[in-house]
Amino acid sequence: MIRLFRTFIAVLAASSLQSNAADAQERYEGPIIDMHMHAYPPDIFGSPVPNPISGLGSTEVTEEEIRQGTLEQMRRHKIVLAVLSGPPEVVARWKERAPGLFLTSPHFPRWSPLTDIDEMRGQYEAGVFEAMGEISSQYSGMEPADKRLEPYVALAEELGIPFGLHVGLSGRGVALTEHPDYRIGNGRPLLLEPLIIRHPDLRLYVMHAGWPFLDEMKAILWSYPHVYVDISPLSWFIPTKEFHTYLRALVEAGFDKQIMFGSDQMIWPDAIGLAIEAVQEADYLTHEQKADIFYNNAARFLELSGAEITTHKEITRQ
Ligand SMILES: [Zn+2]
Repeated sequence: MIRLFRTFIAVLAASSLQSNAADAQERYEGPIIDMHMHAYPPDIFGSPVPNPISGLGSTEVTEEEIRQGTLEQMRRHKIVLAVLSGPPEVVARWKERAPGLFLTSPHFPRWSPLTDIDEMRGQYEAGVFEAMGEISSQYSGMEPADKRLEPYVALAEELGIPFGLHVGLSGRGVALTEHPDYRIGNGRPLLLEPLIIRHPDLRLYVMHAGWPFLDEMKAILWSYPHVYVDISPLSWFIPTKEFHTYLRALVEAGFDKQIMFGSDQMIWPDAIGLAIEAVQEADYLTHEQKADIFYNNAARFLELSGAEITTHKEITRQ
């Protein structure tokens, strides 16, 4: 009898393992929201344009080609919405060419000066912008809670605007080359705490998930469950093994409802496909966790309406 019982348990365990494995292998086919995308002029990193992805070295591309390449990736991968930031004039052109696809934002202070706060309020109230981020204050030597950002943070909190802050990595060696004020030490997630305490209603998301400061990121996500992260560009910019180690650690610590997909597409549209495949191949994620990371968490964070969500799901069923 005991042996029979043991056999039954073993079969049960094996089948649930099989179903979990099958579930983890299952690709997510629904809509995707990209919480971190840029509209940049092609020569933003110099000309000819370096291409760290194709490895093809430098090429000449136009803004139109980058935009078309990005829109093609969005169509192919069912990206139904993206938070888009960059120099305002470039962002405006992308929005005009693809209405309804982007929540746009200025990208300050790295690519545009700190705008007059009343002028910025006017832009949000007029619908010129719908999000605030990427805020790249770390490139200007600022900590996340730097008081110079206070008027913008207060505006975002007051108007209920999603606020995305660059926290963490940049390119290697940039503090000694093109970004002399950038400090990785200003990208520690615990430095966010004064900002969160001062602005408890701020809809804050931590861009780049505060990599590589895993413990500090866990501390913030645990202590402030309303704070989310985006995982850009970890899935294509750092070694893939390290990306999975980091994402898995956040998921196993119970933060799978606070993690949002982001590509950090800059001037290399192929980064989008790479970023998505890296999450699709994560065999430690259940299908539901993939759905949460690709869509559900961002839809909740952005407070999308039931009608918007239904439309998105219908689009991807076609
Ligand atoms: Zn970015």
